[in-house]
Amino acid sequence: MVMVKAYGYGLGPIGLSKFLEEQGVDYLGVANILEGVEIRKAGVKLPIAIMKPELESFDLVIKHQLTPAIFSLTSLTAFVNTIKTLPVDKNFNIHLKLDTGMHRLGLKMDELDEVIKSIQQYPNIIIESVFSQLTSSDNYEEDTFSFNQIKQFEKMAEKISTSFNYKIDKHIANSNAIVRFPEAHYDMVRLGIGLLGFSEDKTTNGVLKNVAVLKTKIAQIHHLQAGETIGYGRMGKVTKPSTIATIPIGYADGFNRQLGNGNWSLIINGKSAPTIGNICMDITMVDVTDIECSEEDIALFFNTKESVLSLSKVLKTIPYEVFTTISPRVKRDFI
Ligand SMILES: *Cc1c(COP(=O)(O)O)cnc(C)c1O
Repeated sequence: MVMVKAYGYGLGPIGLSKFLEEQGVDYLGVANILEGVEIRKAGVKLPIAIMKPELESFDLVIKHQLTPAIFSLTSLTAFVNTIKTLPVDKNFNIHLKLDTGMHRLGLKMDELDEVIKSIQQYPNIIIESVFSQLTSSDNYEEDTFSFNQIKQFEKMAEKISTSFNYKIDKHIANSNAIVRFPEAHYDMVRLGIGLLGFSEDKTTNGVLKNVAVLKTKIAQIHHLQAGETIGYGRMGKVTKPSTIATIPIGYADGFNRQLGNGNWSLIINGKSAPTIGNICMDITMVDVTDIECSEEDIALFFNTKESVLSLSKVLKTIPYEVFTTISPRVKRDFI
């Protein structure tokens, strides 16, 4: 399974899903129902798991042949109420999400008897898989906790599997667990950030390549005199004759406003061009006084793993958020 939630980790869910379908991936995963609907409507035929389906919209899950993760007794009841009214000769597949320590979403050990009993009353509900999520697959210091989660998962999966007379798949590994816990691959793994080239496993990280580049072009160049100011609130001021380039990317594109006033530099013709003044909704100005450049030259926001990591440090976050906050209006090209 590849996770294509959150706008396909920012890469663009439809282009990414079609690419993955061509590459022979077995399963796609998203967080909510409308993400799945959008991908299905684009013509993708792969099974799509919905990790946190909205309980009032199970009709859309069925209409668009999505596979919901049932994560609580309440979500099971909502699903059962939806399919009760539908023909019984049709099977409805689900995944069961188990809480093994994350305490985010998932069924607990002491709820399993009730879940099993309830599902056994509906032979047309098929448990395709049981799964769980590790809290710390990226953190070597928490390996004992991870191994305990894996042990608990096996216990819970066993209890469910032995209650039904068909095979139920198991999966628990996200990207870092794929490389760090091969013994926990079971029947499927769920790849996310690893697809974009990031891993906390040093050997793997060295092999994986960055896949995403965010770039734009200089829209206009201004030659300013000492004392002139730039942008809203006149936050940018030049103290000497300066050349300023206007770049058509702003906070509404995911160029976080905190990166203004020199807190980030775009790369133009191989050189650093620091932001000057406030970042606007659609536009940012950078200082190119010491860079030879012209209008229409390429400006890179990020282009390497190192640049994504340093951007995530400046923003006090992680690469996941850097990618997923690139807004949908930024054009995605798949090469
Ligand atoms: C997002 C997600 C993943 C992928 O996580 P990565 O750390 O990006 O590999 C795996 N499983 C579930 C349930 C998820 O929500």
